[in-house]
Amino acid sequence: MGKVSQLNPDTFPDSPYAIELRCGAADRRFSPRLEAEFERIRLMDGRALVRVTSVLAVLVAALRGVEQAFRGSWTSLLVIDFGLVIAGSAVLAAIAWSPAFERLYLPWARIVVPFRNTLVAAHIAAVAAGGHLELLMAVPVMLIAPFFFFGLRLPTALVSGVLTVASFLTAAVIFELPLPVVIHSAVFLALAVVACAMAARHFEKCSRTGFLEDRLIADLAQHDALTGTKNRRVFDEHLTRLWQQAVGDGRAIAVLLLDVDHFKAYNDRYGHLAGDLALRRVAQTVQRFVRRPLDILARYGGEEFAAILYNVEAGQAKDVAERICRAVAELAMEHRDSRTAAVVTISVGVAVVKATAQRNPRGALQLADQALYEAKVSGRNRVELMNDEEYRMLVTGVFASPSRVSQR
Ligand code: GH3
Ligand code: MG
Ligand code: MG
Repeated sequence: MGKVSQLNPDTFPDSPYAIELRCGAADRRFSPRLEAEFERIRLMDGRALVRVTSVLAVLVAALRGVEQAFRGSWTSLLVIDFGLVIAGSAVLAAIAWSPAFERLYLPWARIVVPFRNTLVAAHIAAVAAGGHLELLMAVPVMLIAPFFFFGLRLPTALVSGVLTVASFLTAAVIFELPLPVVIHSAVFLALAVVACAMAARHFEKCSRTGFLEDRLIADLAQHDALTGTKNRRVFDEHLTRLWQQAVGDGRAIAVLLLDVDHFKAYNDRYGHLAGDLALRRVAQTVQRFVRRPLDILARYGGEEFAAILYNVEAGQAKDVAERICRAVAELAMEHRDSRTAAVVTISVGVAVVKATAQRNPRGALQLADQALYEAKVSGRNRVELMNDEEYRMLVTGVFASPSRVSQR
């Protein structure tokens, strides 16, 4: 049983991996972006094998060349043949060990592997026809390697296999290998190609499913199951990282804390399921305003969300927060027991702080919490902004007012 099939699909966030898994995408190619990600990971995972195999291919070709030299039977055609095989293998090995592996390997391997194997297969048939039947054992190895060792995609490996068999049989007929050997070889090699293709297809399906499941599990570990936003752990890590970046860039960071108003009363009147639904809709609405690559929205706990807007001025941050506030109210989710409005509303505390080495992200968060508190006590369904000036009061402890706890 797959790792993911033990989980309830309804708890998945709308992750692209879950969507692909649900529609059985492991059987075919993914959407272009995921396919590229899968290919990159598959290639990098198989890199060690590709490196070893490509060096072995060079060594085997070189040893065979030495053997041929000892026999003293070189022809100009053989020299060209060996030259091409060794040069192709050496180029692949060099790419496999180079920093350009990710970019260059597949385009080159797609051409070099089938071409080289076709040449080698014809050579083996010719040598076998001259009485060295022991070399025939190398042909199945040449069929298997493109499927499992050279990191090729299945269609390329299949093309390589078919060309290798066709080249071998053509040369076997031309160089007059005994007919029973040709017939047996044709049957066994065709069976070997089919078996390799089926096994490779099976492994590819498993690795596609494994890729989606691994990604989905990583996704699930980052998201809040109810609302689909990022969870608090991801938020805290992101805040710490972004703060360092903002210190380096000399930028300001806006921390927003958003809290649903009178939500206990909402649950009491409409029930927890309706409460869950309302939280989800609030989260989706807020997320529409937190879209830039470095920004983040997370469920901070209960009916409270936290967001970071990177590199914004106080006025911009307040404007975004006010638009979020309005958008939630405009959802018009009935809330008869709210003492603020007849619909579900939120209060938002915004802290816009210039990041410096002397300050820390916890302080920005605390300031946003203070601003949220002010928004609550001054009527809810509103935004309160605090910035550098208030940050200094926070540091000097002016905000540590005992009245706060009792008022809230
Ligand atoms: P305020 O306007 O001061 O924020 O009042 P409030 O009622 O929203 O605040 P309070 O902290 O008293 O209550 C928060 C409520 O949020 C209580 C809890 O039942 C509800 N809540 C927290 N998490 C969830 C959840 O996951 N689902 C639902 N349905 N309710 C939740
Ligand atoms: Mg609340
Ligand atoms: Mg709260």
